[in-house]
Amino acid sequence: MAEDCLFCKIVAGEIPSTQVHADDLIVAIRDINPRAPTHILLMPREHIRSAADLTEAHGPLLGHLFAVAANVARQEGIADSGYRIVTNVGRWGGQTVDHLHFHLMGGRAFTWPPG
Ligand code: 5GP
Ligand code: ZN
Repeated sequence: MAEDCLFCKIVAGEIPSTQVHADDLIVAIRDINPRAPTHILLMPREHIRSAADLTEAHGPLLGHLFAVAANVARQEGIADSGYRIVTNVGRWGGQTVDHLHFHLMGGRAFTWPPG
């Protein structure tokens, strides 16, 4: 657990959140400021700062996370219409919390490229 990391505290249950999935490796919560009808954050329990710090060794963790994301999308009823999974890296990427997380967003159409 990293000092002063918001998502480490959420993973540890020190800060409340609405969980939609939790297991030994990852936690999925509803975003506090949803930008789409479904907006869920999937994050590893392990403190990894961003996708820039991922290595080959994280392969099983990421495979698991994406499998859970697909399940959550089905549960949320957005699987058939489609959805977006995105991770922001660094300042210009739009990252505001430095603990790796993937936004699972759906329930409306998205434009491409993102703004
Ligand atoms: P980023 O900007 O780093 O890609 O994504 C961070 C996300 O975390 C934002 O969408 C923001 O709304 C969400 N967020 C920030 N603080 C909290 C919180 O305390 N609880 C929850 N559930 N989401 C948060
Ligand atoms: Zn953290």
